[in-house]
Amino acid sequence: MPPVAAWQAAQNGSSASAPRRWRTSARTASALSGTGRTATVARAQGARRHRVDRLVAVVWELAGTEVRGRDGTTLVEATPEGWWYTAPAPPQHRLAAFLTDADLLPPRAERWEALRPPPHVRAALDGRRRVAPPRATDACVAHLDRVAGPGWLATGDAVASFDPLSSQGIVTAVALGRAAGEAATASGEAYAYAAAVERVVADHLADRLAYYSVEARFPTSPFWARRRQLPGLTIRRGSAPAAGRSVPTGS
Ligand SMILES: Cc1cc2nc3c(=O)[nH]c(=O)nc-3n(C[C@H](O)[C@H](O)[C@H](O)COP(=O)(O)OP(=O)(O)OC[C@H]3O[C@@H](n4cnc5c(N)ncnc54)[C@H](O)[C@@H]3O)c2cc1C
Repeated sequence: MPPVAAWQAAQNGSSASAPRRWRTSARTASALSGTGRTATVARAQGARRHRVDRLVAVVWELAGTEVRGRDGTTLVEATPEGWWYTAPAPPQHRLAAFLTDADLLPPRAERWEALRPPPHVRAALDGRRRVAPPRATDACVAHLDRVAGPGWLATGDAVASFDPLSSQGIVTAVALGRAAGEAATASGEAYAYAAAVERVVADHLADRLAYYSVEARFPTSPFWARRRQLPGLTIRRGSAPAAGRSVPTGS
C-alpha cells in the first residue's frame, strides 16, 4: 500500500490493512511513521527533512575464512577524508565502510573500487574477499522540521537520524518509538514529544562535536573542519499545552 494511502486508511479507522509500521492508536487514530531515513509519510504531509551534514557510507561486504570467521572486533580508524570502520556481519562475513561527505567522494561508483582502507582496518580485513561491489548509503545527521501533524507522528530515523559513529541509532529509534506511542495515545502530548525529539537531537549534536574534536591530526581537512562547529537546531513544536485542552500539533 502506498504510504499516503496507508495513512489515509489509518485516518479512516481501517488500520488492519495498513503495513505493520502504520498501526494506529486506538484512542486517537494517530499514525506512527517509522519509515527510516526516507521519512516518506511525514514528507508527504509537508514536513521537511533538514540535513545537518552530507555524510554517506560506502559499504563493502567481505567473506571470511573459517579461521578468521569468529573475529567479533569492531574497529574505527580516521583518515583525512573521513573515517573507516569494520564490523562482523553474519554468518562469517565482515563489513567495511568508508564514511565521508558526499561532495568529497568520487562521483562515479567505479572509482570506489580504488578506495583503500587505512592500515588497521586493512589488517583486520586481511585474507578476506569482497563478495559484491561497494554500495553507497545515506548516513547523514538529519531531522524533520516538525515531528507531528494532525493524525500522524514520525519516529525513529524518520524523525531524526544520527551519525553512525555514535552507535546510538537503534537504541534511540526504540526510545523515540516508545515516546511517540505514548504521545499518540494522550491528547496534547505532541508538544512534549517535539520537545523530547529536539532535546535528543541537541544532545547528539553536542556529543558529535565532542567526539569529532578529539581527532586533531587533520587541521586542514574539510571533513573534520566541518564537524568542529555546533550546528543550529529548530524543530517546530506547535502550541504549548493549556490545562484541560488538547493541543493542535505541527503548526
Ligand atoms: C552505515 C550505517 C551504520 C550504522 N551503524 C549503526 C550501529 O552500529 N549501531 C546503531 O545503533 N545504529 C547504527 N546505524 C543506524 C541504524 O541503522 C538506524 O538508526 C536504525 O536502523 C533506525 O531504525 P528505524 O526503524 O527508524 O529505520 P529503518 O531501520 O531504516 O527501518 C525503516 C523501515 O521502514 C520501511 N519503510 C520505508 N518506507 C515505508 C513505507 N512507505 N511503508 C512501509 N514501510 C516502509 C523500510 O523498508 C525499513 O524496513 C547505522 C546507520 C548507517 C547508515
